Amino acid sequence: MRVLDDLASVRPFTEELYKHLHAHPELSDREHETAKRMAAELRATGIDEVHEGVGASTGVVGIVRNGDGPTILVRADMDGLPVVEDDVVEYRSTQTAEVDGGIVGVMHACGHDVHMATLQGSVRLLVQHRDAWSGTLVVVFQPAEETVAGARAMTDALRALVPSIDAALGQHVAPYPASQVRLSAGPIMAAVDELIVTVHGRGGHGSQPETTIDPVVIAASIVLRLQTIVSREVPSSQQAVVTVGTIHAGTKSNIIAETARLGLSIRTYDETVRAQIHAAIERIVQAECQAAGATQPATIEHTLWAPVTDNDPGVVGTLQPAFDAEFGGDVVPMERLSGSEDFSELAAAYGAPYCFWFTGGIDDARHAAAVEAGTVLTDIPTNHSPAFVPVLQPTLDTAVRAMTTAVLAHLGR
Ligand SMILES: [Zn+2]
Ligand SMILES: [Zn+2]
Repeated sequence: MRVLDDLASVRPFTEELYKHLHAHPELSDREHETAKRMAAELRATGIDEVHEGVGASTGVVGIVRNGDGPTILVRADMDGLPVVEDDVVEYRSTQTAEVDGGIVGVMHACGHDVHMATLQGSVRLLVQHRDAWSGTLVVVFQPAEETVAGARAMTDALRALVPSIDAALGQHVAPYPASQVRLSAGPIMAAVDELIVTVHGRGGHGSQPETTIDPVVIAASIVLRLQTIVSREVPSSQQAVVTVGTIHAGTKSNIIAETARLGLSIRTYDETVRAQIHAAIERIVQAECQAAGATQPATIEHTLWAPVTDNDPGVVGTLQPAFDAEFGGDVVPMERLSGSEDFSELAAAYGAPYCFWFTGGIDDARHAAAVEAGTVLTDIPTNHSPAFVPVLQPTLDTAVRAMTTAVLAHLGR
């Protein structure tokens, strides 16, 4: 019997688990109840090992040892977002959480509930059909993807549990038709870097600028000069974004501030370009400070980062025919996204190849109607939107089929 012929046997479990997770989202690094539930569901399948508190307090790892063969790591992320959910489904989230002293709504607005529920569904199917495959399956439930810090927090502890892997596999639900799988080799998601730049001036009275070094003027020059990096320094064949998203200085119009702080977000698809942009930012920031006579160089903090998600052609070559056989014409190439992911850090920690693909979450007819009307951008909610509530089916079935197919493509007998 083909493993996926048994899909209907796990469908009620996957749907119930999904609805529960959707109604009970937790923010990054606070996925305590979610992690307990993931560990409990893994134990319920009777798999060999379940580890909690792996790296981060909420990291969960299950290991299924099933004879000789490769070791494949599969990952689902667990965190929700500070978003108040639209009233679309009866299992909507009404959860709240405290952030910086205020109360925010919490929602699985990125669909990580889909990833968890369907990975549990796939694991159940694979454990029920151990005879169909051979090797070791490492099941990772990762916290804090939204802060792109959760994968990095797990890697040391993960390598202590599992010394090597042959490949890593992950998937993400996206606003595509729910029957679709989108797969491509090469760079498909951008690297992200956040830099916080602090310019050090010399404060004083607003009426006597000659006694000060004004950090607001230095910051203004930096903002303008940074615009030349992508337009004048990066080859036109490359894509990159440099955004100054925040700028803060001063308390009162007649006081010249001591410091100014700039928050930068950088997106790139190529490590050489990434390094080039970092060097250009350092050069421009420090040169502007020097030009203004600043008493000390600017402080540049690298506060957040994730590498480019660059799918391995070999792993994609293994998956493509398996997906084509399972999904036929519903496998389409993936366009490059400007968003970022930390999944690849799990693979990078092992020096292992990986693939990250996308599955749809929008009712096929609704998506087709929006395409027909030319209103996809306005009518189809995207990840992180309060209306991003994937249609229950075939979203869940598609994701269970894709993950199960991908594992069997590597471990199937
Ligand atoms: Zn997200
Ligand atoms: Zn996500």
